[in-house]
Amino acid sequence: VRVLLVEDDDRVADALLPALARRGFEMSRSATGVPVVGMLEDIDVVLLDLGLPDVDGMDLCRTIRAASTVAVIVVSARSEIDDRITALQAGADDYLVKPYDIGELVARVQAVSRRTDGTGPDAGADSVVVIGDVQVDLAGHRVIVAGTTIALSRKEFQILSIIVRAGGAVCSRERLLSEVWGRTWPGANRTLDVHIATLRTKLHRPSLLHTVRGVGYRLTSEYAG
Ligand code: CA
Repeated sequence: VRVLLVEDDDRVADALLPALARRGFEMSRSATGVPVVGMLEDIDVVLLDLGLPDVDGMDLCRTIRAASTVAVIVVSARSEIDDRITALQAGADDYLVKPYDIGELVARVQAVSRRTDGTGPDAGADSVVVIGDVQVDLAGHRVIVAGTTIALSRKEFQILSIIVRAGGAVCSRERLLSEVWGRTWPGANRTLDVHIATLRTKLHRPSLLHTVRGVGYRLTSEYAG
């Protein structure tokens, strides 16, 4: 697993790089934000510190998401819930607050990379599901709405593909949380709500994902065909 650490603080980087390399990750680092977009090729996971000297971390997160489907874990000293939600809306796959436990960081990196390395249950699926003018390419991890490719975060795509594969059956919140995040935590439901809201906004098809109150989500019958 190739990890790009975007961190301006040398002391943090000097501690993290060897610690993660010892655990088998292939590490690279950028101390500033501007070069990052040019460094994403062959990277599996970006660890993105929000407090950078040259660019706004949230803006960089959006730029990375627009340019690549690489997994992004935002790391921040700020602990406000709004920041976490903003990061997820900016396309981050996960969010970690400093100071964090190195074991937790490793677990999060492994979790996001495991779901994106092509060896998961999605590997080999070559189907494109067409729902009205929405095309969901399950193998290519692409969504095209009315001829336009939509940039989704990995988690947004995972949520959409689970609901699409269910073909109109209800997907419970528990199932989505366990399949996409592999865990639950206080505030998990709110995070899922945010991802669903962002998906609806990005797809411009708000009725595609129907809320089944108190249960979860399903494709609406008009789209499920
Ligand atoms: Ca910093």
